[in-house]
Amino acid sequence: MRDLHTYTEICLKEVEAVGIPHGDISEFTINTRAKTRLGQCKKLPNGKYTISISNVLLDESLCPDDKSLKDTIIHEILHSCKDCMNHGKKWKWYAGLMNRKYGYSISRCASSAESIIMKQANPTVYKHKLICTKCGHVYLKQRMCAAVKNPSCYSCGYCNGTLRAESI
Ligand SMILES: [Zn+2]
Ligand SMILES: [Zn+2]
Repeated sequence: MRDLHTYTEICLKEVEAVGIPHGDISEFTINTRAKTRLGQCKKLPNGKYTISISNVLLDESLCPDDKSLKDTIIHEILHSCKDCMNHGKKWKWYAGLMNRKYGYSISRCASSAESIIMKQANPTVYKHKLICTKCGHVYLKQRMCAAVKNPSCYSCGYCNGTLRAESI
């Protein structure tokens, strides 16, 4: 298992090195119960923040490289910045800055690599997937939804490509 504390120290230093003013994070915890969420940032009543990271990302057997772990930690640290609890303009700007500076791929939703990690960690949770025929992005779905029924009516959020549905 990777040590979460070691990684949060590295990530906080990287965020600070580019001058992004993150909030006062009182603790980082390991979440062993989340099935579909890799990270979460919560604001406490005292104005501080608490960040939880899925244990899946700390497990080398499920997640062979540490890129998704660092992407997720930084994604959540950026939510602690002022006016960044959503994925609005300011959050996106900070994420873009980290991506350019360090080669991360922090985005609003989990990347394909992260979707695959979640699927491996929770083989029974996802029942369907939508695959972009152009860029190959995989969208995992827990239940039958309109897009799974009629993939041709929807398009890929990344490249606008056509989607096809598959049961898992
Ligand atoms: Zn987020
Ligand atoms: Zn696509």
